Amino acid sequence: MNAYKAARLPIHRGPAAWNAILGAQDAPCLLDEDRTADVVIIGAGFAGLSAARRITQLEPALRVVVLDASRIAEGASGRNSGFMIDLPHELTSDDYAGAGTATDRDVIALNRQAIAFARSAVEDYGIDRNFFDECGKINGAAGEHAHRHNLSYANHLAGLGEAHEMLDGKQMQAITGSSHYLAGLYTPGTVMLQPAGYIRGLAAGLRKSGVAIFENAPATGFERTGNAWRVTTPRGSIGTERIVLANNGHLESFGIERGRLMQIFLYASMTEELVVDALARLGGNPRWGITPSDPMGTTMRRIDAGQGGNRIVTRTCAAMRPGLAASESDVARFAKVHERKFAQRFPQLAGVRQQFSWAGHLCLTLNGVSVMREIDGGVFSACVQNGLGTARGTLTGIGAAELALGKQGDITRHFGSQPRPNRLPPQPFAAIGANAWMRYKEWRAADE
Ligand SMILES: Cc1cc2nc3c(=O)[nH]c(=O)nc-3n(C[C@H](O)[C@H](O)[C@H](O)COP(=O)(O)OP(=O)(O)OC[C@H]3O[C@@H](n4cnc5c(N)ncnc54)[C@H](O)[C@@H]3O)c2cc1C
Repeated sequence: MNAYKAARLPIHRGPAAWNAILGAQDAPCLLDEDRTADVVIIGAGFAGLSAARRITQLEPALRVVVLDASRIAEGASGRNSGFMIDLPHELTSDDYAGAGTATDRDVIALNRQAIAFARSAVEDYGIDRNFFDECGKINGAAGEHAHRHNLSYANHLAGLGEAHEMLDGKQMQAITGSSHYLAGLYTPGTVMLQPAGYIRGLAAGLRKSGVAIFENAPATGFERTGNAWRVTTPRGSIGTERIVLANNGHLESFGIERGRLMQIFLYASMTEELVVDALARLGGNPRWGITPSDPMGTTMRRIDAGQGGNRIVTRTCAAMRPGLAASESDVARFAKVHERKFAQRFPQLAGVRQQFSWAGHLCLTLNGVSVMREIDGGVFSACVQNGLGTARGTLTGIGAAELALGKQGDITRHFGSQPRPNRLPPQPFAAIGANAWMRYKEWRAADE
């Protein structure tokens, strides 16, 4: 095709709390002229910024421009739960186990490449270590059924030779301050991010190494002009030979993979800062992260002053929104569920307010594949992370950058061998079906 127009641009509902708690950023760099670049990257999340870093590593002399429709870390990169997971974490399975031992080994090796890449960025750019905490995570189980998921997952990990440790209810209470959990499964390889802090640090480091990052600069379209492309934004444009699309589900807004991407919103809330008295009532460790043993359960996280304040984050509820926007009423409705889940786990914190509630966008495919390939001559995609974008977005970003520079490696081979996303049933049936399925799974996950 010769021209792609953005039918939709991102709409955010509720604040990106991780970004908000870090305080204001410097004024944005605005694109208000026509210019040229060697590579233009659309989207400044995990994928886009990783792509930019990979290009600077491979060919430092190239002129790289990144465009984001919003401010840095206002998109899903500042709205997620911050678990950068090394192990298989298959959200559609009952216990996160992946497709089989050989595939899982490959996935683990790739996820660890993503973590190593992020670690090297933290070192090179002097990103605050509190934003990249290599402390591992726990799969929490509130009931016997979920505990059995954990045992089955532990068994799978033993088969893979991966370190893990079962925790009993007492140990869980000592860590979290909550008596809600019957047991847990600790795995040491997950990095707990302050996601907005990490993304801001990545952007700042890239700027220092010469990458131009423009914010509030939505790409409204791109079209071929001779051998090159021109990317347009409302106030300026950029001529380039190569484009990396790192705009996740908004790939579809350019008409690409239409009818094949599941546009999902997840919802979360973060408490106000816990005062000394509340902290004493809470007990437990100052930092921990718990994913639910049942993938449709509730993720909980405790952070501390180094990460933006002593707070607890509750993430649960999901909805498919093919129009690519959550509504204010979705956020309000699901915030009530967060309050209930929080109260159930921390009755000793009655009266603590949820300061922030928000929706965040992620993109899944029915067959669990990403879209990382050359879409058109000189246009590469680093999109679709299937809910695991901190690691997988890092990988698709690296891979798309390598493809754009004509390089091959483990990452390009992995994603290059994936099939296209399966077609979804037509709308509105796909959304009705997916939402009913998610409500059922959430209901079944009950207290998890
Ligand atoms: C509540 C919640 C919890 C989550 N928890 C986790 C977790 O613990 N671990 C994990 O791995 N993942 C988690 N995720 C998923 C994770 O956040 C995403 O997979 C990840 O952010 C995807 O990274 P990305 O760079 O591909 O896309 P995004 O982070 O969505 O970045 C894409 C960027 O593209 C920009 N953009 C879109 N269209 C345009 C345009 N036309 N022009 C310019 N810019 C554009 C957007 O503004 C955005 O900044 C969670 C998501 C949510 C919502």
